[in-house]
Amino acid sequence: MIWRMIILLTLLFLKIKMKKINIYNYELSIDGNIVLNDNVYYYSRIIVSFFKKYNSIHIKKYRLTEIREEQQKFRKYLIENKKHKCIICDKTLPLCLLETAHIKPRFLLKFNEINDINIVELMCRYCHKLYDDGLLSICDGFLQVSNILNKYDLNYNENKFIYSYTLYNKKYFNFHYKYIYRYN
Ligand SMILES: [Zn+2]
Repeated sequence: MIWRMIILLTLLFLKIKMKKINIYNYELSIDGNIVLNDNVYYYSRIIVSFFKKYNSIHIKKYRLTEIREEQQKFRKYLIENKKHKCIICDKTLPLCLLETAHIKPRFLLKFNEINDINIVELMCRYCHKLYDDGLLSICDGFLQVSNILNKYDLNYNENKFIYSYTLYNKKYFNFHYKYIYRYN
């Protein structure tokens, strides 16, 4: 009983602390998004470390379970409704090589975006990693390839049309292109 009280008080304290803390103008909103003071979302190492630092172990565990269930739901949806191929390189692959990819990083989603089925697509491991790192992106439906990838043996067809780009997921691709894509 006492331990439960202590844990609850600690969580409450951390919650209050999270609301007050500001590092380089970033702040953590109540629904878990990290927002710049001017309301422009921004992705960087600072945000990631901030997020990790101020999420207590208890909150992390809870969120991970929650995320796992959500991921399973999205994956089931993709497997049942989409072609089993990577939306970026168009390769048809076994499901063990196709990952459930968030078009906009999960931890930057607004509250009403978290359960939107249009937030995910199937990507192969290679493309998913490069997309998450901002080395590949989609602008107005066309593939963008960072100059950083020029020196590697990757045959990406720049400006190839991505058929999974729709009116419904457009805003998430736009977010990625605007804030995460690294041209060079
Ligand atoms: Zn791929």
